[in-house]
Amino acid sequence: MSEKITEIFGVDVFSDATMVERLPKKTYAALKKTIENGDDLDPNVAEVVANAMKDWAIEKGATHYTHWFQPMTGITAEKHDSFISPTTDGKAIMEFSGKELIKGEPDASSFPSGGLRATFEARGYTAWDCTSPAFLRKDAAGVTLCIPTAFCSYTGEALDVKTPLLRSMEALSNQAVRILKLFGHQDVKRVSSSAGPEQEYFLVDKAKYLKRDDLIFSGRTLFGAMPPKGQELDDHYFGSIKERVASFMKELNNELWKMGVTAKTQHNEVAPAQHELAPIYATANIATDHNQLVMEYLKKVASRHGLACLLHEKPFAGVNGSGKHNNWSMSTDTGKNLLDPGKTPHENIQFLLFLSAVLKAVDLHADLLRVSAANPGNDHRLGANEAPPAIISVFVGAQLEDVLAQLIETGEAKSCKDGGRLNVGVHTIPALKKDATDRNRTSPFAFTGNKFEFRMVASSASIGAANTVLNTIVADVLCEMADELEKASDFDLAVHDLIKKTVTEHQRIVFNGNGYAEAWVAEAERRGLPNIKSMVEAIPALISEKSVKLFGKHNVFSATELHSRAEIMYESYSKAINIEAKTMISMASVKFIPAVIKYTKKLADSINSIKSAVSDADVSVQSELLKETSALLAKTQVALKKLQGAVAQANAIADGAEMAIAFRDIVVPAMADLRAPIDELEVIVDKELWPVPTYGDLLFEI
Ligand code: ADP
Ligand code: MG
Repeated sequence: MSEKITEIFGVDVFSDATMVERLPKKTYAALKKTIENGDDLDPNVAEVVANAMKDWAIEKGATHYTHWFQPMTGITAEKHDSFISPTTDGKAIMEFSGKELIKGEPDASSFPSGGLRATFEARGYTAWDCTSPAFLRKDAAGVTLCIPTAFCSYTGEALDVKTPLLRSMEALSNQAVRILKLFGHQDVKRVSSSAGPEQEYFLVDKAKYLKRDDLIFSGRTLFGAMPPKGQELDDHYFGSIKERVASFMKELNNELWKMGVTAKTQHNEVAPAQHELAPIYATANIATDHNQLVMEYLKKVASRHGLACLLHEKPFAGVNGSGKHNNWSMSTDTGKNLLDPGKTPHENIQFLLFLSAVLKAVDLHADLLRVSAANPGNDHRLGANEAPPAIISVFVGAQLEDVLAQLIETGEAKSCKDGGRLNVGVHTIPALKKDATDRNRTSPFAFTGNKFEFRMVASSASIGAANTVLNTIVADVLCEMADELEKASDFDLAVHDLIKKTVTEHQRIVFNGNGYAEAWVAEAERRGLPNIKSMVEAIPALISEKSVKLFGKHNVFSATELHSRAEIMYESYSKAINIEAKTMISMASVKFIPAVIKYTKKLADSINSIKSAVSDADVSVQSELLKETSALLAKTQVALKKLQGAVAQANAIADGAEMAIAFRDIVVPAMADLRAPIDELEVIVDKELWPVPTYGDLLFEI
């Protein structure tokens, strides 16, 4: 474990360097062309690559390979096949063909498909995604060659996170290249979207974790009173890292580095026991794969250290939740970040065009961004009691806000805050200074110098959906812009007018104030910005006419695929709440109620024995406690019955959307009603008798 980063980084990746070393020049060139330009892969090339990959993997101890994919379960899936191939003399050789590399045929019938795949065509197939490098995974099962793949139904419909993401990257590239050509960048062939997800998580002691069914089954605490100390002292944020956590982080980094994941920063987060890990950004595709590995290894490595990692968006009520800040940008194959303000007015105009395209895209499709961040856990983070409103607005910082305001008012921006130079001319745009000092933490979508940070993404979810939406909505606006600009006779004038028009029409989306403030909710409503409070309310955006048209136009999702995704989302919401409710029913029935009964008996026994010893002794404390406890116990029982009824009622509904609505409107409130008396009891009942570790035990004792 004392290895140097440079020596271990990427050792388990079939990287570009490894390919250069191991592939014949011609094969390497052909594969590169496929990776970079999306050209079809020649089967003969695949054969040679498969062989080289197999030799490399076997030298490193691999016995199996797997097509690694991301079905709509939120996690990755894999089916392992060994390289073994029997020979006629009863022995075996290790084989791996080009066909096996390119295509796999896992049985798709057990993955969520939202009705896409009738059971008679249960076959699905996985297709090699050669833009994300293959890697080795080492665990108790041995060494496995993991081949990133996209997962489709037999009729070609996407059943996973990866396929639409790749399609959206293609769409964005096509449209951004059109714009860049107009700016004279004939050399740019591709534009790719990059993502850098900052992953938040909690660590708790594993032995304590295992004593709580709610953590085990639903990933969050369904009961629990606040401890005397919460996060009010702000002493955890960026605080020094505890020994046990530090050694966990060290091992985690090593594991991730070997697989080529660029784990970069780590620190304590706002809540006690909360931490964050951020990698260096990569193309959206690789970043999505790597984030899945990060989540998987957070759990795996935590377990080795006697810890449990909670990725849930709100593991503890009353304590900060976890999110995933998805930093997003676009850059060219010539190395230029399109969201980087330039040094010259010309570059600035191009930057402002891309910036205004993002503003317009977010304004027009805030509903799609919202649904891309929706999952059952995020309902506690977005628009809930303790959470900021679920309104999407864009923070651009004081400097840009000023420039945009000048453009809107006078059609020209002549000056720049912070002492920027003034560029006078017909179509003046001031020189912009990169403003890295702006630190608005309350904006759900913030421009942070040379990238946008979409902060609503759920901590436990794949970043695939968010990036698919971002890429597509921006591609769509760029497409419209290119259509208009390609026709213009005076390009400079047309660009200038287009920027002005775009920022004027979409200025309502820009908000630099405090996004957590009450006043913002009213202000946003005045501006007509949507405030979509729950996952169930967010889902219809996916299948709106606007959405079907948008995703269809850019070949990202067909209407059928969108409907299937909406169906899967409704289903996954209902399932998640059903599991939570059933866990609560079970914990209340077999843990809390029996514990409270024991306590009431203890009190009653105490009263009786004291009374029989000294008939006029003061037992008012015990009596009062007994009355209070018994009343709460009775309340608990009533709430328990009500929750049982609510669950039965919701489960009896046939329609997916209606069922999800019932879970939200009937079951969720009944869950809160059951929780309330039990949380009250927790701070009354003898701690010795309390059947599960408390918030205090979980948050402060690791
Ligand atoms: P901050 O502290 O402002 O959020 P950091 O520099 O710590 O920013 O970066 C946060 C994440 O953003 C990291 O994962 C980083 O790699 C990523 N990131 C930085 N630049 C870009 C970019 N141009 N595009 C996408 N992600 C980026
Ligand atoms: Mg950040």
